[in-house]
Amino acid sequence: MTENITVTGMILSAQPMGEYDRRLVLLTKELGKISAFANGVRRPTSAMSGVTQPFVFGNFILYEGRNSYSLRGAEAEQYFPELRGDLEALYNGVYFCEFVEALTQENIPAKEELRVLYRSLSALSKKSIGKKLVRAVFELRMLAVGGIKPQVYECVRCRKKEMLRWFSSRGGGCVCEECVRKTDFGAEYEGAPVWSVSPSTLYTMQFILSTPLESLYTFTVKEEVLNELREILSQFVTVHVGRKFKSLEMLEVFS
Ligand SMILES: [Zn+2]
Repeated sequence: MTENITVTGMILSAQPMGEYDRRLVLLTKELGKISAFANGVRRPTSAMSGVTQPFVFGNFILYEGRNSYSLRGAEAEQYFPELRGDLEALYNGVYFCEFVEALTQENIPAKEELRVLYRSLSALSKKSIGKKLVRAVFELRMLAVGGIKPQVYECVRCRKKEMLRWFSSRGGGCVCEECVRKTDFGAEYEGAPVWSVSPSTLYTMQFILSTPLESLYTFTVKEEVLNELREILSQFVTVHVGRKFKSLEMLEVFS
């Protein structure tokens, strides 16, 4: 006999199904990414309509059927309502959820991924730092949690720690001045270009990767550092995640 299980998590997406149902994708601490069917929640009388929408964080009671989970109850702790009143914040939030969905797997616990997502949506809601910086921080930290951390402390070719002036997405991180000058570095990585990286941008990436999550969304950077960071991360995500995100097209309006 299968019993109900309770998991802690966040709804990444909610698609309407049939006449009154929703298919949810949840990121859970215990089971990683899972799909669950929420039957009848789109009926006007349903008390579960509000708690079966994207960004809802809390405890979810699931029934495990033979092939899928069904949602039996939900207790929301946070909705991030601020995101719905600001289009740029909303699209960023949707992108964060899509990004996490691409990087996580089923049945592999995702406690750290959930923490990074929660903190990042909180930062978007609070508006204490710019949304473009929140997005860059989120991408870098989530890549690291997902095991796709760029090497920002040493040259990916010779492992020296000095003169890290270049960045190669395909190479997986920083390249030193000497390696770029001495070798045909670009050709080695299928002709992929290396990007120049300033000391400030490099320091910012090291800071983002090494600072505890609780104190991460408190700093700001100069416009040129932010632009360089965004460019490098955009290339890195294209190479290593290799997926088109629908929400990114919507976000282009604000770039
Ligand atoms: Zn080198």
